[in-house]
Amino acid sequence: MKVTEHIKNAKGKTLFSFEIIPPKKGKSIQDLYDNIDPLMEFNPPFIDVTTSREEYIYIEKQGLLDRKITRMRPGTVGICAAIKHKYDVDTVPHVLCGGFSKEETEYLLVDCHYLGINNVMALRGDAMSHQKYFEACKGGHQYASQLVSQIQNLNCGNYLHDVVEVDDTSDFCIGVAGYPEKHIEAPSLQTDLKRLKEKVDAGADYVVTQMFFDNKKYFEFVDAAKKAGIHVPIIPGIKPIAIKKHLQLLPQVFKIDLPQDLITSIEQCDTNKQVRQVGIEWAIQQSKELQAAGVPVLHYYSMGKSDNVKAIAEAVF
Ligand code: FAD
Repeated sequence: MKVTEHIKNAKGKTLFSFEIIPPKKGKSIQDLYDNIDPLMEFNPPFIDVTTSREEYIYIEKQGLLDRKITRMRPGTVGICAAIKHKYDVDTVPHVLCGGFSKEETEYLLVDCHYLGINNVMALRGDAMSHQKYFEACKGGHQYASQLVSQIQNLNCGNYLHDVVEVDDTSDFCIGVAGYPEKHIEAPSLQTDLKRLKEKVDAGADYVVTQMFFDNKKYFEFVDAAKKAGIHVPIIPGIKPIAIKKHLQLLPQVFKIDLPQDLITSIEQCDTNKQVRQVGIEWAIQQSKELQAAGVPVLHYYSMGKSDNVKAIAEAVF
């Protein structure tokens, strides 16, 4: 079922969902299952599976370091199919512009269609670590809005090269990213909202937000999005802080603000176990307020570990 159908069927009840990351290649999928198992009692109608960009890896050869580019966490669509089969739950593969040509994206979407996966999250991806700016690969998209258009075209039976008369079309429900504190590269929140509207106009059915730690930012964003003409569901993304280093890392990587109360509570912790507990309690308060405000889904960034998300879900759902 489509994410938007799940939301409609819930009739105003807030749903629980989460996002997982594929294991590094060579690692077993069992660890993923071990972290999904404890969360299934909260009946997630869908689970997102991220796609990673390629990165440089260093291989030592005869005393010299050789540098290769590789995708360290492949398998997104395969994992989506495996989870769908094992848990009878809908899955949402993240589809990236970065590192994929339009042709490769079309193959991936055809695989999803045959596997009965009819939700996708359309994203640009970040620049690779050695690049200053994002660069589309040869024959790839520069912006997520173009990827949304490609998926929508496919939904209308328009393949990149029409070779046969089409009698079986996909019907993907398309999610896109939104940024309550604006995307790091956007000159202003207003400009970023204009770009978000372009994604919705191209065919996006719902938005999932970047993590935020102050609900006011989400509520203001939803209001501003409505004023900008965006009327699709906007799902809040919640990340529980887990380690002290997040105080520096999260603002640096995602260009988000952390509330002073949260910073002070974390600074007072002596161990990461205490930090984890503060992170859980903060996320519970955030979740309860968002739930009371009637958000359609609470979407958790589990980062592959379920224990803190489980503690939050137990208190909220
Ligand atoms: P876009 O919507 O293309 O926007 C990127 C930037 O370009 C923005 O600043 C926007 O304002 C600007 N822009 C857009 N259109 C135009 C235009 N026509 N002209 C000029 N500027 C324009 N990354 C991963 O690698 N894998 C994942 O699985 C993944 N999952 C994510 C899930 C969520 C919910 C979120 C919020 C992010 C996720 N990301 C993921 C991160 C995401 O790829 C990055 O934030 C990326 O930098 C932007 O992606 P986007 O889809 O928002 O890009």
